[in-house]
Amino acid sequence: MESWLVAAGRDRRAGAPLNVPPWPASNFILGERRTYARGDGTPGWEALEEIVGGLEGGTSVAFASGMAAIAAIFEQLPAGSSVVLPEDGYQGVGGLVQAGVRHGRWTVRHLAVTDTAGWVEACGTADLIWLESMSNPLLAVPDLDVICAAARKRGAILGVDNTFATPLNQRPLALGADVAVQSVTKFIGGHSDLLGGVATAREPGVVAGLRRARELAGATPGTLETFLAVRGARTLALRLERAQRNAMTLAERLASHPSVALTRYPGLKTHPTHAAARRLLQGFGTIISFDVRGDARAADAVCAGLRLIQHATSLGAVESTIERRAGVAGQQHLPPSLLRLSVGIEALEDLWADLDRALRAAGTRG
Ligand SMILES: *Cc1c(COP(=O)(O)O)cnc(C)c1O
Repeated sequence: MESWLVAAGRDRRAGAPLNVPPWPASNFILGERRTYARGDGTPGWEALEEIVGGLEGGTSVAFASGMAAIAAIFEQLPAGSSVVLPEDGYQGVGGLVQAGVRHGRWTVRHLAVTDTAGWVEACGTADLIWLESMSNPLLAVPDLDVICAAARKRGAILGVDNTFATPLNQRPLALGADVAVQSVTKFIGGHSDLLGGVATAREPGVVAGLRRARELAGATPGTLETFLAVRGARTLALRLERAQRNAMTLAERLASHPSVALTRYPGLKTHPTHAAARRLLQGFGTIISFDVRGDARAADAVCAGLRLIQHATSLGAVESTIERRAGVAGQQHLPPSLLRLSVGIEALEDLWADLDRALRAAGTRG
């Protein structure tokens, strides 16, 4: 995988540039395969699709964003389909599905990520099962192997948003999922400088449906964005390895910090789905959610006191970012002092010094 990330998606003909350059083109001189980029694509998109397709183990279709890729999957559902979503899933998908419910396109119900028996049962009754490699921000890892096997046997379509794990930590298609999604905006791009998405499937019919949905909706990736995404993908393995190592140690230290009431990280033995994470993930990821002792103001003070860690949303980039999730619209059900930290590739001791100082300065020692 590490070598594929570096070697794939290149034009190997004599005289070709080592990297596929940006392709600012909408239309092409007639007579060859490409006539118009919205339907026929550009070499830049294809480089990204080759790289991610090889990692996920299928054929990838690149989109303008992660949400565009996810919308293209839901777009395929026949009218009146039933959908099952995880309770603490990605907010954008919740909004997309609720809009579809209002328009009478499908029905939805929600299950706890850890309700494996419920998911297995749903595989016999629902049309689309939607899961994430881990939930956000509580980081619960579903029993994806068991649920995939049930979906295979009982007929439901299974889609997995694999953004938090990346294909280096988990490959849903190999477990039996029908389609896997990456928000390229996060780990694959890795530098907080682009929006992009990819959906990957094995069935030619599913792939053709995704391409058609992209063309019809015009949900096409930008040429500069795909160039930057490919450039980011080259270092994905290095970035992930470093950030995960940082995350494991930070999680251990946060768990015993006097100003922290609870630390959630799938790599900690105390995490409710640690066993599933050990069984199903190659690495535990780079996201830590921890509750600061005290109220929302104490947690906000920690964010304000950080100097190295950026006070910003999103995840998966070289720089560490932190956000109080209950402060985000629609997330008020979360613990008020929960901070979601996306660990980057900075030096571990610099990150720890920043966190420790901000936690102590915020006066949250219990
Ligand atoms: C960010 C994110 C998305 C949406 O991706 P965009 O590129 O922002 O459209 C979907 N799922 C998860 C898990 C994400 O983190």
